[in-house]
Amino acid sequence: MTDTELRVSKIENGTVIDHITGGQALNVLTILGIDGTSGEEVSVGMNVPSERLGRKDIVKIEERELSQNEVDVLSLIAPNATINIVRAFEVVEKNDVTRPETVRGILSCPNANCITTKNEPVESRFDVLDDGVRCTYCEMIVRESIASHINSA
Ligand SMILES: [Zn+2]
Repeated sequence: MTDTELRVSKIENGTVIDHITGGQALNVLTILGIDGTSGEEVSVGMNVPSERLGRKDIVKIEERELSQNEVDVLSLIAPNATINIVRAFEVVEKNDVTRPETVRGILSCPNANCITTKNEPVESRFDVLDDGVRCTYCEMIVRESIASHINSA
């Protein structure tokens, strides 16, 4: 085992999100709906030295695997992240995130007149651009602080 593998495999079962862009760990927790109130067992490392990124954040979550939707949104704020699935202290799967063409459901549109923010049961949908996301319905573009547009479930 390399040092990196040792560092990420210290949880028994769950997910280690490694190579998160420095400073984005708390936004990652927001995306995953983790606020500490549900008793989740979570470790967060911030500004850990990284050969690849200079500084990186790392999040370890016991007993949790991520949905594709969550990984898709995560890729918007942490494009270099790796998702490690851990079972019985071993990394059994390691995936890089890829930017999807669209993200559905997780982000909410900042346009109050958008059909997805009205009472209509329309799931939000954003097209992913190089530098942000664009609402498929009203075409409003979100470039900064994407994490602040995450639906609070
Ligand atoms: Zn919209």
